[in-house]
Amino acid sequence: MTTAHDHGGDVRLTGISKTYGSFTAVHPLDLTVPQGSFFALLGASGCGKTTTLRMIAGLEEPSTGTVRLGEQDVTALPPYKRPVNTVFQSYALFPHLDIFENVAFGLRRRGIKSVKKQVGEMLDLVQLGEQARRKPHQLSGGQQQRVAVARALINHPKVLLLDEPLGALDLKLRRRMQLELKRIQTEVGITFVHVTHDQEEAMTMADTVAVMNGGRVEQQGTPADLYENPRTTFVANFLGTSNFIGAEVAEVSGDDVILKAGGGKLTLPRARCPAPVTTGGTVLAGVRPEKISLTHADDAGTIPSGRNRITGRITDSSFIGVSTQYVVDSPACEAFEVYAQNIERDSRLVPGADVVLHWNPAHTFGLDAEQSPF
Ligand code: ATP
Repeated sequence: MTTAHDHGGDVRLTGISKTYGSFTAVHPLDLTVPQGSFFALLGASGCGKTTTLRMIAGLEEPSTGTVRLGEQDVTALPPYKRPVNTVFQSYALFPHLDIFENVAFGLRRRGIKSVKKQVGEMLDLVQLGEQARRKPHQLSGGQQQRVAVARALINHPKVLLLDEPLGALDLKLRRRMQLELKRIQTEVGITFVHVTHDQEEAMTMADTVAVMNGGRVEQQGTPADLYENPRTTFVANFLGTSNFIGAEVAEVSGDDVILKAGGGKLTLPRARCPAPVTTGGTVLAGVRPEKISLTHADDAGTIPSGRNRITGRITDSSFIGVSTQYVVDSPACEAFEVYAQNIERDSRLVPGADVVLHWNPAHTFGLDAEQSPF
């Protein structure tokens, strides 16, 4: 459907903003979504992600800035003249038409008579070929959502916009549909821009995620990059749990920054530090709970050298099947969270036990110390 050199599906927002009276829903932002990528706008309710999506669709007029699709400036074009289509959370199917006719609608409106082949292919793409003659109310929520996707794709838009399309589905179906949408996007190869407040959903589906907060894009990157190298505590917390340690820079040595924290020393890769770092300065060091191992203090001698270590005392533990979650009180961090795989279970690791937390220094990330950990 597209070629490697086709940039018609690039979405480029430049200085785009939206104000309602004195309220700014979206502060001026620049965003580039490359042709053929699956892009997610992720953020809590009210952060401006839907408004941003609606400005790409042409359903909302920007207060400032431009929207380009490929080389074309579409800022002044009405929605129906833009090569985009939108799938909403409320599937908005025509209840009196069967599935075939719902999908055929866009073609018929353009005066195309022989629709059978194209509609058939689209229904196969969303795996609903068997249901073609059913009415929407005879389908499950997930099936109705797939019809909405097929109907939006039939006119071959260059960009498909999805506004919380899985929000009405139960959790299990949601997970299935996430993989399904990803498969469809890979198969048709067009640009998808997906709005969601669910971090797991964004991370499962998207090649690139833009995390929005208070009408601004706080950080943009691949799911792994955002998870492993969050640049703000908001991003770190939105994409999972983090432990934060307020630390002083003891020394900058080659590729490493040596930190003083809670009476001990920690190593932080310099590449994962906010610039600039200077001896005597402060840094907020972060580490994800599943990166940490827990060893009873009596066995501290067995911990390999070169790992970051912190001593503490277990205050709480809960077994949740795939892992045991511990809370550890330490001079470096009040309530350190540790998710230990069951393989590491040790019957002495109970509340009250003295322990050493340790992890590979490569899993430590550094943030500007001015930020609040919460
Ligand atoms: P949700 O997930 O709840 O839809 P969102 O991140 O998509 O949230 P938006 O719908 O983009 O957020 O709204 C951003 C902010 O702009 C919100 O505070 C909202 O109340 C406000 N807003 C949106 N539309 C209007 C409008 N027509 N008039 C005034 N304020 C608006």
